[in-house]
Amino acid sequence: MPIQILPPQLANQIAAGEVVERPASVLKELVENCLDAGASKIEIDVERGGSKALIVRDNGKGIPKAELELALARHATSKVSSLEDLESILSFGFRGEALASISSVARLTLSSRTQDASEAWQAYAEGREMAVQVKPTAHPVGTTVEVVDLFFNTPARRRFLRADKTEFTHIEEQLRRIALAKDEVHFTLRHNGKLVRQYRPARNERQKHQRLASICGSAFAERAFALRCSNDDLALTGFMALDDDRARVSDVQYFYVNGRVVRDKLVNHAVRQALEECGLSQAAGYVLYLTLDPHEVDVNVHPAKHEVRFHQARYVHDFILTALQQGLVARLEATGGVVAEPAAI
Ligand code: ADP
Ligand code: MG
Repeated sequence: MPIQILPPQLANQIAAGEVVERPASVLKELVENCLDAGASKIEIDVERGGSKALIVRDNGKGIPKAELELALARHATSKVSSLEDLESILSFGFRGEALASISSVARLTLSSRTQDASEAWQAYAEGREMAVQVKPTAHPVGTTVEVVDLFFNTPARRRFLRADKTEFTHIEEQLRRIALAKDEVHFTLRHNGKLVRQYRPARNERQKHQRLASICGSAFAERAFALRCSNDDLALTGFMALDDDRARVSDVQYFYVNGRVVRDKLVNHAVRQALEECGLSQAAGYVLYLTLDPHEVDVNVHPAKHEVRFHQARYVHDFILTALQQGLVARLEATGGVVAEPAAI
């Protein structure tokens, strides 16, 4: 075969292979877009584990009619326009690939209205046929994306989908990760018409604790103690909880870097070392939020952005270690050497 440029549709489907693994990854991309659009309320409707339909509705700023078609195009984004933007990125999105990828492997409808528009508009794209149709519709200010029949035109991918229940479990986990990142956003999740999760916005400490309990479970929330530590460059906040004979809470492990949930061995290592140095043998669960200058971290490492690269990894590690040790010591002192206080009855 001679060298040839791939048709856009195929290029999008290849890109979709990296970011659209299963319904939960579609959910991640759609919800991150809602958050980037400043939404305070996000409603998610899932049918049959997300393989039949995944609908995400937000009350964010919306997309102007003139940009609807572009929103579905590859490498089209409103979030970066220069390398400097990329190096200081704080939005979830920047690759301009999610909607193009998803619409190449599903039937996608995008409906939206901006504050200053008198009507709402809808764009529809279906798998192989990339011609986008735009027509008027009814919609309040904000955006709804409907993704129907995921992988209908990529049978090899579709075969990898698990039972609806399993896919839905992944969706719930994805939602937990995102909901922990944004305390002030109201989320609802329905499955086959039934309300399954509702995370209410948390504005004060009591509400935050309630939200933590509804997302991470009451066993974690009852044992959780707050952490707060900062220097000129870095800040760490969040919660830690230790396993005891009544409950295992160490499966709750979330680490956020500038609001983005990431997997990083660095934090696991720091947690283990902090426990060891405090003479504790049990394992710990945690929800930790690290903030730092976005120039100090590269988020463009992985298409699904699960990983980041710190410019000064050692410094970040040692800071987290110190923050955790201080938190643990304070907790041990406050509870007379017992890390988990008996739960209030
Ligand atoms: P990215 O998020 O990397 O920019 P996407 O393909 O996810 O790429 O989205 C493309 C563009 O569509 C975004 O840059 C944004 O301008 C617009 N968009 C997508 N979803 C929404 C939404 N829910 N609300 C407002 N704008 C949106
Ligand atoms: Mg996006």
